[in-house]
Amino acid sequence: MGLGKDLHALESGRALLLAGVLIPSEKGETGHSDGDVLAHAVCDALLGAAALGDIGAFFPDTDSRWKDADSMALLRQCREAVRREGWRVANLDCVIELQAPMVFPYREAIRAALALALDADVSAVFVKAKTGEGLGPVGEGAAVAAEAVCLIEN
Ligand code: MG
Repeated sequence: MGLGKDLHALESGRALLLAGVLIPSEKGETGHSDGDVLAHAVCDALLGAAALGDIGAFFPDTDSRWKDADSMALLRQCREAVRREGWRVANLDCVIELQAPMVFPYREAIRAALALALDADVSAVFVKAKTGEGLGPVGEGAAVAAEAVCLIEN
């Protein structure tokens, strides 16, 4: 079982990506890569489950190769690293923290994108979203956060 979490600042003129799904929004995630906060949390959950390291070790933000990187491609690389060790994803559960817009209309697309990237059945992947209740960086619309737990089996 692995746990991952991430937070990215939101800024005008950036795309808001959640597991590669483009969410129409005035503001999107900043970051060295495309900033996909959910993809990053899932990478860390997956790598952590197999005790293989973390996203910062695999894809350092000091390396220009990962500038504007497609984070779902990074996730697929993490899946392959975990698979090489003899593991497959049994279950993934995620929480997105975003004040606005509402994530609910995009949930099924996000679940499908994660299931595809992880080579898992969509019935083993779930995604929930919460607001920040108007409090803190998430509640003020300055940031988006995500948490994920991933169960792997050999
Ligand atoms: Mg990140």
